[in-house]
Amino acid sequence: MKLIQTLAEMQAIKHPPSAKIGFVPTMGYLHDGHMSLVEASSVACDITVVSIYVNPAQFGPTEDLSSYPRDLDRDLALLQEIGVDYVFFPNTEMMYPAPYRTWVDVDDVSSILCGASRPGHFRGVCTVVLKLVNIVKPHYMYMGEKDFQQLSILRIMLRDLNLCTEIVACPIVREADGLAKSSRNVYLKGEHRSIALCLFTALNQAKQAVSEGVIKVSDIIDAAKLSISKAGAVVDYVEIVDERDFQIPEMVDEHSRMLIAARVGNTRLIDNQKLI
Ligand code: AMP
Repeated sequence: MKLIQTLAEMQAIKHPPSAKIGFVPTMGYLHDGHMSLVEASSVACDITVVSIYVNPAQFGPTEDLSSYPRDLDRDLALLQEIGVDYVFFPNTEMMYPAPYRTWVDVDDVSSILCGASRPGHFRGVCTVVLKLVNIVKPHYMYMGEKDFQQLSILRIMLRDLNLCTEIVACPIVREADGLAKSSRNVYLKGEHRSIALCLFTALNQAKQAVSEGVIKVSDIIDAAKLSISKAGAVVDYVEIVDERDFQIPEMVDEHSRMLIAARVGNTRLIDNQKLI
């Protein structure tokens, strides 16, 4: 496993022309969700590159950039164990040379849901991912459905900007009780850990209701919001969208996906699931 800290080093790597390059961008503090992406890339690609970079541009001024969990040594040990080819961990001076002026925005889908609650978040995500893709030049980029809106926006970006990298979407990895794995779960102490399960519970209740014939979107959303508030979390949003274009349907169909963001104490959690 090669450790790479500079952009120049990463850009200078000469891969065999026939090698398929898989790329897994992360913010580190790796868990089984990240590792599932690394595994998927290792199985399908000849070379796997993992990046670890906590991107300041995607955090709002009152968000958790400074407290975001970090443990590079532990991350490197996990990646070494699984057998990754390259780990790229640039710093912010390299990624955003001052004065930094160039940003990438994907219209419409970036301003709803997480984009409405976190203004500028997806601009930061799109910018850093485009930069990383330009540096790593992967054929495939492995991303988790945990961040379904992010994955969808990045697919649009890659298509609109004519990049040859293809996103491979990987399923959400959960704790034994169903809580979606997240680096931020480390913030959940005491009763907050059990309250946090209410997002997954609400998704499952919605799926169950649909299977019993309840398909009116507004009814399903109202029930989910009630279930989450009763559990002791604060709803940020609950929406059902057509997963192909993020339009909001009136009735659930096979393209419907429910997305939830809620706060448990100071921790903002997201989760999502298809309803059929
Ligand atoms: P992050 O480090 O949070 O930026 O996440 C890096 C990548 O890991 C993103 O593509 C996430 O969607 C993915 N990821 C995070 N948590 C999970 C999970 N529980 N299951 C699957 N993928 C995940």
